[in-house]
Amino acid sequence: MYPQNWIPNTRRPIGGRTIVFDLDGVIADAGHRQHFVPDDRSVAKNWMAFFNACVDDPLIEQGRRLIGSVSDEFCVVILTARIHDTREKTVAWLAANDVRHDWLILRGPRQGSPSTQWKQGQLELLQAAGAEIELALDDDPRNTAMVRAMGLTAMYVHSGYYDDRGFDVDFR
Ligand SMILES: [Mg+2]
Repeated sequence: MYPQNWIPNTRRPIGGRTIVFDLDGVIADAGHRQHFVPDDRSVAKNWMAFFNACVDDPLIEQGRRLIGSVSDEFCVVILTARIHDTREKTVAWLAANDVRHDWLILRGPRQGSPSTQWKQGQLELLQAAGAEIELALDDDPRNTAMVRAMGLTAMYVHSGYYDDRGFDVDFR
C-alpha cells in the first residue's frame, strides 16, 4: 500500500528508474501568487491565499514539454509541497493541461513540516518503495542541495522565486 498522499495518474507502480519533477516554478507558473508569501519577515505570509490561487497558474510550456518528453522507461513523479487542501485543484489542473506523470505527491493532512524536510522524507519513502531516483528537478535551491546531500542527482531550474532570499547554499 502506498501512502494516501501519493496519487496515481497511470497504472504504473512505483519502482524502477524514476525522475522526480517539482511543480511550482518548473511546470506551473506560480509567479502571480508569490506576493502572498513575501520574504520580508515583517509582513505576514498568507499561505492559504498563496495555495488557493494555484488554480490560476499559467502553464510553463517548456516544463510541460520537458516532462512530456521523458521516456516511458522512467516512472515520472511530480513531487510538490503544496498543501493537502489543493489536492483536487492540482489534480484537475494537471489533467486540464495534459501534464504527463505517473504519480502526483503532495502533502497529506497534518504534514506541515518545512518543505525541504518534507520532500526529503517523501524521496526516502519513494526509495523504500523501490524507486531508483535518477534525477530530481526543482527551482528551490534548498531542495536541490538536499537532493545532492542524499547522494542523488539534482537539476536546478531557475524560476526567480527565491532570488531575494539569500540562501547560503550552492545550488549550481
Ligand atoms: Mg518549486
